[in-house]
Amino acid sequence: MLKPGQLVSVSIHSLTDKGDGIATLEGRPLYVERALPGERVEVSLTLVKPNYCHGSLLRVEQAASGRSEDFCPYTACGGCQLRVMDNGAQLALKRRLLLDALQATGLDCPVAETLGMAEPYHYRNKAQYAVQPGPYIGFYAKHSHQLVEADRCRVQAPVTAEVVQRVRGWMRQCAVPAYNEATGDGVVRHIMVRDGVNSGELMVVLVVAEPPAEPALEQLVAGLRSLAGLASLILNLNPKPGNRVLGPENRVLWGREAIVDRLDGLQFSISPLSFYQVNPRQTEALYREAVRLAGLSGDEVVFDLYCGIGTIALFMARQAHRVIGVELVPEAIADARANAERNGLANVEFHLGAAEQVVPALYAEGLKADVVVLDPPRKGCDQVLLETLVEMRPARLVYVSCNPKTLARDLAWLTDHGFVLEQATPVDMFPHTMHVETVALLTRK
Ligand code: SAH
Repeated sequence: MLKPGQLVSVSIHSLTDKGDGIATLEGRPLYVERALPGERVEVSLTLVKPNYCHGSLLRVEQAASGRSEDFCPYTACGGCQLRVMDNGAQLALKRRLLLDALQATGLDCPVAETLGMAEPYHYRNKAQYAVQPGPYIGFYAKHSHQLVEADRCRVQAPVTAEVVQRVRGWMRQCAVPAYNEATGDGVVRHIMVRDGVNSGELMVVLVVAEPPAEPALEQLVAGLRSLAGLASLILNLNPKPGNRVLGPENRVLWGREAIVDRLDGLQFSISPLSFYQVNPRQTEALYREAVRLAGLSGDEVVFDLYCGIGTIALFMARQAHRVIGVELVPEAIADARANAERNGLANVEFHLGAAEQVVPALYAEGLKADVVVLDPPRKGCDQVLLETLVEMRPARLVYVSCNPKTLARDLAWLTDHGFVLEQATPVDMFPHTMHVETVALLTRK
């Protein structure tokens, strides 16, 4: 009989989707954080159930070839699941995850080496900290809302630690209470920091359940305005209980309502509610690959579907005849239009709405794309959209995806309906996590 506290020596044979090692113990899976496939490890059982067990890693008896020193002191943090794997092994794993997803749906195409980062640290331009009574300010531990204070996080921009310290000091000094998830009392819920890495502009968003008193807000502005690069300080009101970080209402406390960042010579205005890729260096690599695969000659009509603030659309617009972006979030569309103007690109237009509604309507009006770029959220594309694209028959489809499984599902359907999958390139947008970004090219049969 297995029981918690028992020590076992096991061989790790694979990884879960979340990056935990899996061994088999008495016929059931045993999950071990930070244990790698190919390793023999000594584990202390922490949970024993009839169908599975959890254990914590005590000692690596035989290390996998890709094991590296853990670079992070915050053992309880739920992020960076692959932090004991070296960069090369992570890139190989991500390519393998993509290959497995494609093969599982019967797809076969050349898959490039993962485009990785040479220095995969401090790569994030956006940090989101939860705030709890104490005040504690940090990230959630795995599977919980327990906070881990991680001021020296190696993947965040270094400036975020300074923001956290100043907000913590302000809450104490002005006696502004943290929000209490259990009772709904209190004020400060989250701190979001956006750092325009290529422009040096910084945005701080304080998310509150109710506005603090005016004198306290004045103190906040006084405490934060000397932060290097601060261009925008925003109060976001989120009175509703639940897990949503940002509420719908923003109030500018200081500076502008958006910051500007640069990618590959283009400028982008980013407001608090808009989606913007979090790893700017890798975003450039991803978009350049998307542009390369689009194979533009200058005469094409390009659709950029799920366009966010119009980043890919503007990259394409420099080399296409006309670009049409479609996006669901009104703030993002407003940013996208401002971005086109800011960059002097007059051959781009943006439509607000769901791609599965806007694209059939445009097609019914007689508009056709030569090249379509798709960059949907994790759940992939709506079937109605895919059916419209099959009717429209663009010469090329460039599919950008953050989820290999839904990517493979959509690609398999498209290859059954008149398209050929030419190639796929994995891009490492989120080093030390299991996330894989992919850009794939389909051509019309
Ligand atoms: N291409 C952009 C954004 C990709 S993220 C970039 O690289 O930055 C996916 C985007 O799709 C988000 O901005 C989200 O708001 C939007 N979205 C989600 N569902 C959508 C739908 N049904 N139709 C159009 N856009 C949608």
